[in-house]
Amino acid sequence: MFLKGKTALITGSTSGIGLAYAKALAAEGASIMINGFGDVADIEKERAALEAASGAPAFYSPADMSDADAIAAMVKACNDQMGGPDILINNAGIQHVAPVEDFPIDKWNAIIAINLTSAFLTIRASVPIMKAKKWGRIINTASAHSLTASPFKSAYVTAKHGLAGLAKTVALETATFGITVNCISPGYVWTPLVEKQIPDTMKARGMTREQVINDVLLAGQPTKQFATAEEIAAMALFLCRDEAAQITGANISIDGGWTAQ
Ligand code: NAD
Repeated sequence: MFLKGKTALITGSTSGIGLAYAKALAAEGASIMINGFGDVADIEKERAALEAASGAPAFYSPADMSDADAIAAMVKACNDQMGGPDILINNAGIQHVAPVEDFPIDKWNAIIAINLTSAFLTIRASVPIMKAKKWGRIINTASAHSLTASPFKSAYVTAKHGLAGLAKTVALETATFGITVNCISPGYVWTPLVEKQIPDTMKARGMTREQVINDVLLAGQPTKQFATAEEIAAMALFLCRDEAAQITGANISIDGGWTAQ
């Protein structure tokens, strides 16, 4: 359990990739603060399971990642109650698929706020805590869309490219403090976020569900397979190891070869 004594704050961790990060880090003894939306009883069950797995306290923050005050309060609670974060994973994210000329302005603003600005705010509040300890790990879940684009995803692609730039910048600023800052960039991972965008993509492209899965989602993924949330979490776990101390400012693709093309 190499993360015993460490605290991890993971945004958007009530579902999908975020929950897989939480489970992987808890299995190595980290004290976890999860965050995100969902059914209260389900979240409490996950929180209790994390505590049982790690043998360390686990907390839940309901902070909305589009609310700057709530984000500041979440990091403060993590510091007050858990003495962290030592590990910060910016993972909360939403998607909306529409042609740019029809892209709803409120959706654009929400995606930029949740997928990009929230990471700036959590990093801004967490870096002083990590600098004081001379140790820290910051991991952003970016995306293949931090490196390349797809049509009808203007806000998401913009936010994810921004997240990659943010990670590189903060990596340089924190490099002499024992802090590493990296992005993990998955291709398509089968999670609720991907499942939910199928109907809109069907509408935008005039396709059936099967066509969207095979001809859009997996079309660019040379392995023709979805990545799993557990595979993404395994990379985050490695980035938390001492052996990963020199990996900083990197954007690590886990995309079945998508961005190699
Ligand atoms: P998901 O929908 O399963 O999980 C998203 C999480 O974010 C949930 O816990 C949700 O409650 C939370 N969330 C959403 N809005 C929030 C808000 N305003 N405040 C707080 N929490 C909020 O999605 P996922 O596929 O696990 O995605 C996780 C991350 O991985 C996202 O940043 C996404 O862009 C990225 N990603 C996913 C894929 C994929 O194929 N699934 C690929 C590349 C990148």
